[in-house]
Amino acid sequence: MTKLNQLTLITVLILGCLSVLCVSQDFDFFYFVQQWPGSYCDTQQSCCYPTTGKPAADFGIHGLWPNRNDGSYPSNCDSSKPFDQSQISDLTSSMQKNWPTLACPSGNGIKFWSHEWDKHGTCSESVLDQHGYFQAALSLKKQVNLLQILQSAGIKPNGDSYSLEDIKGAIKGATGLTPWIECNTDTSGNSQLYQVYLCVGTSGSNLIECPVFPHGKCGSNIEFPSF
Ligand code: AMP
Ligand code: AMP
Repeated sequence: MTKLNQLTLITVLILGCLSVLCVSQDFDFFYFVQQWPGSYCDTQQSCCYPTTGKPAADFGIHGLWPNRNDGSYPSNCDSSKPFDQSQISDLTSSMQKNWPTLACPSGNGIKFWSHEWDKHGTCSESVLDQHGYFQAALSLKKQVNLLQILQSAGIKPNGDSYSLEDIKGAIKGATGLTPWIECNTDTSGNSQLYQVYLCVGTSGSNLIECPVFPHGKCGSNIEFPSF
């Protein structure tokens, strides 16, 4: 090997190692979290409809969260890449529909999406840029129509209670995957269906079996409030 070739090889190796370090991903999978707006709103804290109007009675996206197999997760990974609305202007109307803010005071969603990007999205920059990140979440929601899945199993947002096992079973039956169900409580203290977690591979596109579940517990029967 000539001196020049050796030098080239060394340079390539060094640059290669650096690039691996730079783009190394500090997570093993994503949680894709969808939220029932009725259960966000009928709590002590209550809610405010977006300035764009009351969202549809459908699950909304809460977030796409990079997580690690040990249950921990990275957050706020890159303050040099703050949320930039101009990068997702083509997605805004779909986001208003599918990723509605419900926080008070009423907003147009930017604050919620910006929080999600800054806290979680910046931790998967090695695989998804800002546009890719929001597009991935929107496309996952299209892949998993939770409300349709539940309604087809007779589980309807009408204020009735359903068994946690039936809810999980319906989602498992339709997706092949075991979901995690998060509950919260209404103003009377009843446990209700709040958020549904499904897991996604590191590319952000394929649903996978969850490597680890979050903590917390629902009752064995939980309410599915209307919205
Ligand atoms: P995160 O920090 O991504 O784990 O999300 C938790 C934060 O998101 C909390 O501050 C919640 O109050 C807020 N949050 C959850 N759902 C919504 C929603 N639909 N609209 C606005 N904020 C929300
Ligand atoms: P437990 O009610 O804690 O005895 O749990 C019974 C089974 O349901 C176990 O396989 C748990 O992992 C599962 N499980 C309990 N709570 C939830 C939940 N909120 N979402 C999904 N699975 C759960």
